[in-house]
Amino acid sequence: MSEHFRIAIVGAGMAGASLAAELSDTDSVLLLEAEERPGYHATGRSAAFWTESYGGPLIQPLTTASGRFLRDGGFLRNRGALTLARADQEVGLEDFVHRFATAGVQIEWTDRHRAAEMVPGLDKQWAFGAFEPDCSDIDVAALHAHYLKLGKEQGVALHCRSQLVAAERTERGWTIETAAGEQFTCEILVNAAGAWADKVADLCGLPRIGVEPYRRTMVQLAVNPAPADELPLTFDLDGSFYFKPEHGSLWLSPHDETTSEPCDAAPEEMDVAVAIDRLEQAVNWTVDRVEHRWAGLRSFAPDRLPVYGFDPEDKAFFWFAGQGGFGIQTAPAAARLGSQLLRNSGRDAMTMGLTPDLYSPARFR
Ligand SMILES: Cc1cc2nc3c(=O)[nH]c(=O)nc-3n(C[C@H](O)[C@H](O)[C@H](O)COP(=O)(O)OP(=O)(O)OC[C@H]3O[C@@H](n4cnc5c(N)ncnc54)[C@H](O)[C@@H]3O)c2cc1C
Repeated sequence: MSEHFRIAIVGAGMAGASLAAELSDTDSVLLLEAEERPGYHATGRSAAFWTESYGGPLIQPLTTASGRFLRDGGFLRNRGALTLARADQEVGLEDFVHRFATAGVQIEWTDRHRAAEMVPGLDKQWAFGAFEPDCSDIDVAALHAHYLKLGKEQGVALHCRSQLVAAERTERGWTIETAAGEQFTCEILVNAAGAWADKVADLCGLPRIGVEPYRRTMVQLAVNPAPADELPLTFDLDGSFYFKPEHGSLWLSPHDETTSEPCDAAPEEMDVAVAIDRLEQAVNWTVDRVEHRWAGLRSFAPDRLPVYGFDPEDKAFFWFAGQGGFGIQTAPAAARLGSQLLRNSGRDAMTMGLTPDLYSPARFR
């Protein structure tokens, strides 16, 4: 006979692991992961920052709501973020500061002098900046491990190398099969498959939402002078690069977004070259060596907001996908909200300020 769970979650990245931990205090949970280990895809490839202005004003409440849990749990290390603008972008930067300041985010207008103190060697083109003192590095591996450990203690059955390959709807839920030849039954199937979210909907015979994976490139550089540890996470207002220090090296991204099939993403030489060129135009540092390069997939729904909730056509199928470029910094509040929606229970202090309808899959049907 197949083993039965109330809830089966597909995907053990940050999304699936955090939701499994939130649910398993009362529910029996199966967590299926296609790869040999959890966190191999987007979760293991992030730039590891928590920044309230990142992802836009409708993502900010999820990021802010996650902040206290992350800080109290010791997962954040303060860094600060600086967004740079040229003289002709003054109005755009004012707008950016105003938008987040009115939402309660601590964000300060900064003149060129102060920006250049924070980023020594800053090119003359940068006339202004916006500084977010609360921006922090996230210990992604520790956060992911925390959720996996809590889940394990509460009885989550994690099966790696167990790609979901078939799902049949039954009167009481689902009968599911994995590539390892296992068969399980469950009442509710949760789609936390990241870049594969639409493929999981296909397997279950449900309409796709249009969750598109986009490749993002990161490079680790040896630069001269070596970046100080207190260098802020530095963006430009146009969104064409960001960089931050990492143990004496520099992490840099060209902020690329190239559509991709769901896959084991790898960096393209051209994107690495573009990243370095943009850095060399932004500051007067020299790049001595590319130490490491990698890429990962950030998956977005058509409106770039996440998708949390029951499918409108099937209340035994729950979407937990489309976490884009903010799936780590929003994970605690998203998982708490996801568990409350799944259980149809009330909101708590962490999720009180959120508007779940914004993230409901019903908005696409
Ligand atoms: C370069 C880069 C930088 C980023 N920087 C940040 C950042 O600084 N801050 C931030 O908050 N976010 C950042 N992100 C975004 C963040 O990494 C993602 O939003 C988050 O990791 C998504 O988690 P996930 O669990 O949905 O996806 P994933 O980690 O990709 O997990 C999905 C899992 O589902 C599994 N799966 C798929 N199909 C099946 C199946 N049929 N059966 C079983 N398992 C299946 C996959 O193997 C995978 O492990 C970044 C992303 C990238 C790529």
